[in-house]
Amino acid sequence: MPVLLHGCYDFLLFENSLIYLAVFLVFVIVLDVLAVIRINRSSKKNMQIYKSAVQVYCTNCGQKLNEYGFYCMNCGCPVRRM
Ligand SMILES: [Zn+2]
Repeated sequence: MPVLLHGCYDFLLFENSLIYLAVFLVFVIVLDVLAVIRINRSSKKNMQIYKSAVQVYCTNCGQKLNEYGFYCMNCGCPVRRM
């Protein structure tokens, strides 16, 4: 999906036409509005915007760790990242 959206982005921008430029502006505004809506929803539900492909677990207690956390929420053990 990101590749397709980026292709649309490039095509609309480099066509060198006012109509395509207007479509480009609408395209960017719609994507920005959708991104803000998604961020607000995730923020209200306290959930991630996307799921990481890598699952990280605490080496001390085995609890699944928050992707960006520095400490385990279960035991408080510091997270070691490579
Ligand atoms: Zn832990």
